[in-house]
Amino acid sequence: MKYQISDFKISPDMDGRLEDIIKEKFKLNKFSFKIIQKSIDARHKDDIKIIYKLMVETDKALKGKNISIYKDDMVKITYPKWEGKSPIVVGFGPAGMLAALYLARCNAKPIIIERGSKIEERKEEVNDFLNHKVLNPNSNVQFGEGGAGAFSDGKLVSNVKSPLIKYIFNEFYIHGAKENILYEAKPHIGTDYLEIVVKNIRLEIEKLGGKFYFNHKFIDAKRINDELIVKVEGLDDFKTNHLLLGLGHSAKDTIRHMYNDMHMDMEQKAFSMGVRVEHPKELIDKAQYGKFYKYLPAAYYKLSTHKNDRGIYTFCMCPGGYVLASTSDDFSIVTNGMSNNDRANFNSNSALLVDVKPSDYDKGNVLDGIDYQEKYERLAFEISKDYKAPANLIKEFLNDEVAKSLRSVKTTYPHGLCLTDLSKCLPSYVIEGLKEGIIDFDKKLHGFNYDDAILIGIESRSSSPVRVLRNENLESSIKGIYPMGEGAGYAGGITSAALDGLKVAMKVAKGEILK
Ligand SMILES: Cc1cc2nc3c(=O)[nH]c(=O)nc-3n(C[C@H](O)[C@H](O)[C@H](O)COP(=O)(O)OP(=O)(O)OC[C@H]3O[C@@H](n4cnc5c(N)ncnc54)[C@H](O)[C@@H]3O)c2cc1C
Repeated sequence: MKYQISDFKISPDMDGRLEDIIKEKFKLNKFSFKIIQKSIDARHKDDIKIIYKLMVETDKALKGKNISIYKDDMVKITYPKWEGKSPIVVGFGPAGMLAALYLARCNAKPIIIERGSKIEERKEEVNDFLNHKVLNPNSNVQFGEGGAGAFSDGKLVSNVKSPLIKYIFNEFYIHGAKENILYEAKPHIGTDYLEIVVKNIRLEIEKLGGKFYFNHKFIDAKRINDELIVKVEGLDDFKTNHLLLGLGHSAKDTIRHMYNDMHMDMEQKAFSMGVRVEHPKELIDKAQYGKFYKYLPAAYYKLSTHKNDRGIYTFCMCPGGYVLASTSDDFSIVTNGMSNNDRANFNSNSALLVDVKPSDYDKGNVLDGIDYQEKYERLAFEISKDYKAPANLIKEFLNDEVAKSLRSVKTTYPHGLCLTDLSKCLPSYVIEGLKEGIIDFDKKLHGFNYDDAILIGIESRSSSPVRVLRNENLESSIKGIYPMGEGAGYAGGITSAALDGLKVAMKVAKGEILK
């Protein structure tokens, strides 16, 4: 019989002995078990517990308060057989990957257009930028196979709720992520495993008859009679009835064309700007886990507050990670973060962001938010004129001074830093919000306002400043064109983008979730 055991608590220092502890607790001889959920309860620093939900299979009858009969709750979905012309999927980020995979399984033989390179070559191109400041504008940290999050922490935490999330995590696992993403409360894949997942999803799609065109940019689509004529740089025109656009928020050239020339309906959207903050990993681990920090994985935090109707929050935290130079444009600076699966680097970093509202940037055009974002990214570059990121230390930042040099915290930012007054490259309301946030977050995470922690500017691409409007069929104002994922304004991370891509593909193919 298979049993589900909930609320099974153990001390972090005993975590390596889980099997023995189950055996002893239930006095079992022969049994097998599987972890269904694992979380850390760190509310009481001197009594931290790891909390498991387990499936235990044994011949012995188990009874008790937290024991029930185990039921597999993996969601099942249908794959209706595709009829008609192959759909075209533009962009192979999380939205495009899940959409193309689903359509390939419906035998739609999707055509995938990706402006960047295959992950293997993209890695070289990204390294060229990180090591030598040579930027390929079509293949970089934002663009290329795997999308914006391919060089990331691969964090899968998200605010969205859907039974399909379990399906998505299972696909990541089947395609090469470690099994713990299926049960950890805050799962993450890590850059080193993401590249395997991305490649394996591509290989499955190819095996099912999908065709990839890397290093080719989608430039236009027109509806003529019942068909869409799709133009792609360097290729003959394609004809299709279904065009799925998973462009990401950095495809500003394509988004501008979609609004200005294709006349697709869009609206302005709030986004955020701020900095990356780098602390020593040990400082964060000790603040979160006290004496147990050595037994637990690198600590994560998520903090938020409000001032003057603006949200101030940490985002995309990378425990034991690196701050990454993440621009896709020449002569501009954009920060973000990444970690490998082991999260073992000496610093932990996070975005520290303040809300930017349409009223901050609106000059009468839907695309004003993109111009506003670009303006500050260029100002950030202008400070060093050399990709060195503008930065300051927390102590001096809070006192309206500029640090003379880095102190105890070494930076992981690859191009080096230029210590400066950050108000040269961020609006005043962002600067004020960051100060408020740092002081407030220190009350929630002791040590957050560590004098020597580094603030690195600017983090400006946490989400899109526009939303492409969709109807109830998830279709844009142009029939047959389906915007999806983060660039369309329907996601803010890997999981939500993948979910949106899957939902669009299921809508297009008329797939269903089975109960
Ligand atoms: C460094 C970094 C770290 C991150 N870390 C995390 C994290 O840990 N967890 C998390 O949830 N999120 C993270 N994010 C955010 C996350 O990556 C994005 O939310 C997610 O990738 C959005 O998915 P998407 O498919 O909508 O778009 P994208 O991933 O941006 O993919 C869009 C794709 O479209 C392609 N494209 C664009 N224009 C064209 C065109 N005209 N023709 C052809 N192809 C085109 C691009 O090359 C790109 O591959 C991170 C982002 C970055 C940059």
